[in-house]
Amino acid sequence: MEKKSMEQTIIQECPMCKKVHTMDVPLDSLLAYELGGLVQECFPDYNPAEREFINTGYCIECQKKIFQTNYKSDRIQEVKEVQA
Ligand SMILES: [Zn+2]
Repeated sequence: MEKKSMEQTIIQECPMCKKVHTMDVPLDSLLAYELGGLVQECFPDYNPAEREFINTGYCIECQKKIFQTNYKSDRIQEVKEVQA
């Protein structure tokens, strides 16, 4: 069977700073996670900050404050708020 590389965009509002961030993830990984898979098994290539984002929505900046970590992510993108 041919493996498809479809992607799905996760959209999360950070519980702390309320900024909205997105991250594109492989659809099959996301489905496995939503079906109850462990985040570290469904996203083995992702760093701990990206996994935390998937789990809780905390953005990189807030994770630095909360967990005293210093991860970077090219995958997590901040959504600039559009002023109405
Ligand atoms: Zn935040």
